[in-house]
Amino acid sequence: MLKKINFISLGCAKNLVDSEKLMGALKLSGYNVSFESSKPSEIVIINTCGFINDAKEESVDTILQNVMLKKEGKVHTLIVMGCLSQRYKHELKSEIPEIDAVFGVNDFDALLHYLNASVKPSAYIARSQTTLPHYAYLKIAEGCNRTCAFCIIPKIRGKHISFPIEDVVAEATMLAENGVKELLVIAQDTTFYGVDLYKKQELAVLLKKLTKIEGIEWIRLHYTYPASFPADVLKLIAEEPKICKYIDIPLQHISTRVLKSMNRGIDKEKTIKLITKIRKTIPDVAIRTSFIVGYPTETEKDFKELCLFIEEMKFDRVGVFQYSHEEGTPAYIYGDKKSDKVKQKRFDILMALQNEISEEINILKHGKIYKVIIDTVFNDTYVARTAYDSPEVDNEVLINSKKKLIPGQFYSVKIFASDAYTLFGEVLEN
Ligand code: SF4
Repeated sequence: MLKKINFISLGCAKNLVDSEKLMGALKLSGYNVSFESSKPSEIVIINTCGFINDAKEESVDTILQNVMLKKEGKVHTLIVMGCLSQRYKHELKSEIPEIDAVFGVNDFDALLHYLNASVKPSAYIARSQTTLPHYAYLKIAEGCNRTCAFCIIPKIRGKHISFPIEDVVAEATMLAENGVKELLVIAQDTTFYGVDLYKKQELAVLLKKLTKIEGIEWIRLHYTYPASFPADVLKLIAEEPKICKYIDIPLQHISTRVLKSMNRGIDKEKTIKLITKIRKTIPDVAIRTSFIVGYPTETEKDFKELCLFIEEMKFDRVGVFQYSHEEGTPAYIYGDKKSDKVKQKRFDILMALQNEISEEINILKHGKIYKVIIDTVFNDTYVARTAYDSPEVDNEVLINSKKKLIPGQFYSVKIFASDAYTLFGEVLEN
């Protein structure tokens, strides 16, 4: 039996959790599994992303790199799974015949059967964690019931399926037993949690249960949806010390006309009301959001409206995406109306605007003391994060310390300098 597997995971954290679960099951089935190793492996599994053009290109490039390794005899079996193959199964098979097997997004059983693996991934099977040992993504549902006009995910991942509360809690407990202190709660739409399974939004109930898990100190909520945002979640975040005062809420746009054409189910007025309510309920909350520029129906006036909104709202963190014209999405009928030049120009304007805002917000942190967790260390420089910063996407706190600090441990740090994306701090004696 071929033994060595190299697992490559592309795309979002939800894909990463799928990869970690599969890797855990393959290890328990007797395979020697490495993650994104440069060493040759008999079997390579690529968990692809097929969301937007850039992601598709990255997935195809990664496949072709491994086709090369196969031609050089360094790889025996090449397996492709995930969103790109869910979307383009036939094209992949016909255009890249060197691929030995193609699986979709929820084809775990078929893939494991193909590899004669006996163990099935589940909430009760140890994941092969790929993140730093002290934090992990906790996926609470699959799929999405929303119909955002620019988005192909519901077509790829199917309808929203909430994972049972007891399964999610069991998985989180196992992660905590393995040393995880910070849980990043994710799904396509976390606020929809429970509607299918329990006939009502149960995110607050789930989060409350997660706060009871010994060893978990930080719980961070990602991918919330603005329309029908559950009020009990805001109240819980405000009350529960373990839940980070942090909300990730992609808004995509602010012009009511564009939001309508995007089929977002919310308008400008309600969006502003929600942000105001979030800030009133959780006074020191950090809000991360993201916007799409260059959407087919977006006019220069709509774009100006968006700039003004970002200037007024002063979000802690903003991600900007250039519209990607995806066949199979409702917005495809509009045609890709905005040139790459216009998309790039609007992208640059928003990024520059937010850069200034992030700089201003970070200056207000000077002299303040924060609880931070140490992520990594380079020589005497420690890279840490506050409870207001999610891994890989938000601020890093850089700390120069002669005193040895332990990755995964919490420390009190006083901020003395900053730039738009970095805080500089000194560790305080506990
Ligand atoms: S909420 Fe909208 S953007 Fe997000 S996955 Fe669902 S359809 Fe796509």
